[in-house]
Amino acid sequence: MRPTPALAAGGRTVANLLSATEWMLPSPASQVHTISVLPSQSPTPGHEFAFSNLTTSLGNGGGKGVEARSPRFHVVRDDLLHPLANGNKPRKLDALLPLLRCRGATDIVTCGGCQSAHAAAVAVHCAEWGIRPHILLRGEQLDIPTGYNLISLMFGNVTYASRSVYAQRDEMLYEHATKIAGSNGTVMWADDIIAEDLVVDEDTTDGNGSRRVMIVKEGAGSVQALLGVMRLVDYLSGLTLFGQDEKVHIVVDSGTGTTAVGLALGAVCLGLQWRVTAVMLADTLEKYRQQEKSLISDFEKFYPGIFHGMVGNDTHCSLVQWVERFSPRRFGKMLDGEIVMCRHIAQQTGIMLDPMYTLSAWEHAVDLCRRDSEAKVVMIHTGGTLGLFGLAQRYSPQFTTGEQS
Ligand SMILES: *Cc1c(COP(=O)(O)O)cnc(C)c1O
Repeated sequence: MRPTPALAAGGRTVANLLSATEWMLPSPASQVHTISVLPSQSPTPGHEFAFSNLTTSLGNGGGKGVEARSPRFHVVRDDLLHPLANGNKPRKLDALLPLLRCRGATDIVTCGGCQSAHAAAVAVHCAEWGIRPHILLRGEQLDIPTGYNLISLMFGNVTYASRSVYAQRDEMLYEHATKIAGSNGTVMWADDIIAEDLVVDEDTTDGNGSRRVMIVKEGAGSVQALLGVMRLVDYLSGLTLFGQDEKVHIVVDSGTGTTAVGLALGAVCLGLQWRVTAVMLADTLEKYRQQEKSLISDFEKFYPGIFHGMVGNDTHCSLVQWVERFSPRRFGKMLDGEIVMCRHIAQQTGIMLDPMYTLSAWEHAVDLCRRDSEAKVVMIHTGGTLGLFGLAQRYSPQFTTGEQS
């Protein structure tokens, strides 16, 4: 049992907040797999380690023999949350979608790159919840729809926007939303909806059949997105595997950094001494620090007292430890041998990674558990596996090279 965090100012705690929130996911649960890391005999670069999934593989049961003392880390299998739209995306929508529905949303507008996992997740989860999804994708329709592009096309109403239109994102979203709303409808930004203001106005929701269009910005990097991630931290902290006194070290890959901030904020607000390391993939350290500051200050504004109730008013230090990828590159680029590495890991553990995002967190998790045998290293699998189908189009030769074992 986890002790209740010290009462925040005014008696508000994150536990109150989480239990008062309506969620999209029926349960916060995720499977947690344990991976052992052994040096491998293979001299091939990228094959320095042999992995085994101690949770699922037969005969390894908890690690006997040489595996008993081998470094190990845990993987939170959020990639298994949903067959089509999983990982951190449903976590980010977990509190947001019910809130928008409660405010009478009939339509949601959002945007993303051609293979955006965010856009696909909005399309799928809105469709499940009876809200019409409208997706603006950057660029042109692919010759052969695949990956998340295919999912967005299947579940959402997709419109392609030229790069120049897309560059003015807010104008583009607002204009599109206005068109959908028509003359009787209303348009709102999801960010402007304050959770406290939960009065459902029946007259405006279904009285005259007019549309209520809500705009979710790219990547759902809003304060409500933090809540779903904090709910995950709350769930993990209740597992016996991560007892209260454990030195838990979370590793996650970052695009906007929202998931990483949610994890760190969740840990602080729940009174856990957990560290969060986030691999920066899409931006500079300065931008990630800015994003962190802005999300935390929004969280304070929307849910006053919870965070400062835990840390006091004078904390300016970073909650997240932002780190470089071991092999930095321009965002979205894949290096030689990375597909082969992902195949190697998939074949040994049954876990699929992609070179753009999750492989970077895996590499950090491997490194951390080898360097600190005391720490409980936990990688959050942020999903995105269908993104590999998009990459495969560009890099197909890599799928047919490398050792077959
Ligand atoms: C969207 C996505 C991210 C980025 O998440 P942020 O919260 O924006 O940092 C990371 N990894 C995967 C696999 C994703 O799909």
